[in-house]
Amino acid sequence: MVITIDGPAGAGKSSVSKQIAEILGIKFLDTGAIYRAIALILHEAEIQPEENILLREALLKIKIKILGKKVYVNDFDVSSEIRTPKVDKLASVYSALKPVRESLLELQREQENYGSLIAEGRDVGSVVFPNSDLKIYLTASPEARAKRRYDERISKGMTADYEKILLDIKTRDEYDSQREVSPLKIPDGAIILDTSDMTEQQVIDKILGFVHDRGLQKIEAE
Ligand code: C5P
Repeated sequence: MVITIDGPAGAGKSSVSKQIAEILGIKFLDTGAIYRAIALILHEAEIQPEENILLREALLKIKIKILGKKVYVNDFDVSSEIRTPKVDKLASVYSALKPVRESLLELQREQENYGSLIAEGRDVGSVVFPNSDLKIYLTASPEARAKRRYDERISKGMTADYEKILLDIKTRDEYDSQREVSPLKIPDGAIILDTSDMTEQQVIDKILGFVHDRGLQKIEAE
């Protein structure tokens, strides 16, 4: 079984997917983490997005591994380093490049070989797993998404500026939706869930309802 959750930044994809994976006892694939990791490494290697040849050479050498909740680049654990506002922006820029997306496609697809999974990202239902059993497009207004990011940072004791977060979210939305390769879009056959006025638990219950309606739990048990 493959469930895909696509949608813009801050729609709650990661948190919801993680919890559904735990409830159903399946694997969680955070594709954003892979794009973040590759963007960080390319940036640290000082390879600019427009340096096509250097970029392709570097991509051949970079080995990304996902082990449980951890992401490794060439055997270095980058799981925490990739969760910064700076990497938010870098990931958005480097993930728009065709060679980057091509180099990561196989890595994402092969995760299906290790068992049932719930994958979240921007193109998991449209490009990576177009035949997935259940496709969800999770969205919310930019204001609701910015407020969630703001609350999340404050609750972690970090400083946060709501207006700046809102602007970053809008910029990232525009960038992710307008790029030529694999733009953020609603995958064919996806169920659209606007979570602006829903609690996280309501979103989880709703998706579990779809899983149940489609008899997917039975597939998992067989
Ligand atoms: O989901 P997350 O915020 O971690 O993703 C970081 C960035 O990686 C996104 O803004 C997007 O540009 C890119 N991304 C992507 N395709 C995916 C997942 C993430 O282009 N499947």
